[in-house]
Amino acid sequence: MGICILTINGVVIVAAGRGQRMGASIAGPKQYYQLAAKSVLQLCIEKFCSHEGISWIQVVIHQDDAELYAQSTPPHEKLLPPVTGGETRQISCQLGLAALSEHGIDKILIHDAARPFVSQATISKVLESIAPRQCALPGHAISETIKRVDGSGHVLETVPRDNLFAAQTPQGFIFTDILAAHNKAKSENLDHFTDDAAVAEWAGMQVEIVEVSSDNMKITTGHDMEIAERRMQANTLPDVRTGSGYDIHTLGPGSFVTLCGLEINHDMGLQGHSDADVGLHALTDALLGTIGDGDIGSHFPPSDPKWKGAASFQFLQHAVKLVRAAGGTITHLDVTLICETPKIGPHREAMREFVAKTCDIELKRVSVKATTNEKIGAVGRQEGIAALANATVVFPSINGA
Ligand code: MG
Repeated sequence: MGICILTINGVVIVAAGRGQRMGASIAGPKQYYQLAAKSVLQLCIEKFCSHEGISWIQVVIHQDDAELYAQSTPPHEKLLPPVTGGETRQISCQLGLAALSEHGIDKILIHDAARPFVSQATISKVLESIAPRQCALPGHAISETIKRVDGSGHVLETVPRDNLFAAQTPQGFIFTDILAAHNKAKSENLDHFTDDAAVAEWAGMQVEIVEVSSDNMKITTGHDMEIAERRMQANTLPDVRTGSGYDIHTLGPGSFVTLCGLEINHDMGLQGHSDADVGLHALTDALLGTIGDGDIGSHFPPSDPKWKGAASFQFLQHAVKLVRAAGGTITHLDVTLICETPKIGPHREAMREFVAKTCDIELKRVSVKATTNEKIGAVGRQEGIAALANATVVFPSINGA
């Protein structure tokens, strides 16, 4: 049995304010301040875009912010073109509602752009609590003791905190009820209401508190913005990727093998189009794996005569360049050489140094290991030498807020 959505629900996001209490540390209107590469307003919009109960989003912007809005707000199928607000929050809201009247909306949420942490649960709870002539007002019980003070900071009284709630947004209404209430306030030249529940209350509607989490903070001051930034960072997922690589080349006539950049005297040689350095080939593939960019064969086809006898550090350096161009920081490279002979131990440190230098990373971030194949199979019969490699690369964080 599927879920049947019977109502068309919309949101007005009021983003026309000037943020007088932000202080000097935040330049420009706070709703366009970037938190983790997205504007505060865009973070709000995304919360409603991703809620399946919402069909339309109407943003109300300040007349000076058309360019800021266009620059920082990507289009979305639910997002209508912004409308310009008025002198007060209440007038801006009325203009937003009026712009939505063509869309056959049943339930409407009205949200402040200064609350980017609104949760899907709060949106659902408010939508469910809307009834005819009844406003659903999300809020949380106040835990601090509240003092009323005079203009010079002298405490006049302690306000009993029993039954005191801090109002949040989005506040929810039947669309026609709240539009009529706003139109009535406008026609009576009343423009002092600071939230829509107050307009509803004035118009004689019932206002019901919907108890929700206090996580849905309002960004009012520069300090609030610092808290918001820390919250965004806490929600950030590290983008650490590992790639793996494997290579094998056959042994044939020759007097040396090239392994991890070093020529080591031997009674056989590795056969291949390039210098057949299995260690560097496996590392090259491991690095390419972190960016999903093919393999060594797709970048350096064995059919291309250009790479005949080529020194393989060039392949590795090319992969390093591609990883860095994709924003990656190489934090670890680990290669295991698998052969019966020659002995790798005496050359291990020189190999680490060669790889570190080639990739321009610290020596401690490179590991070279070796094992025999216990005389089993092709490698055990000294028909070839194989290598396994892992690369760990860290990319810029993904924000999951
Ligand atoms: Mg190879």
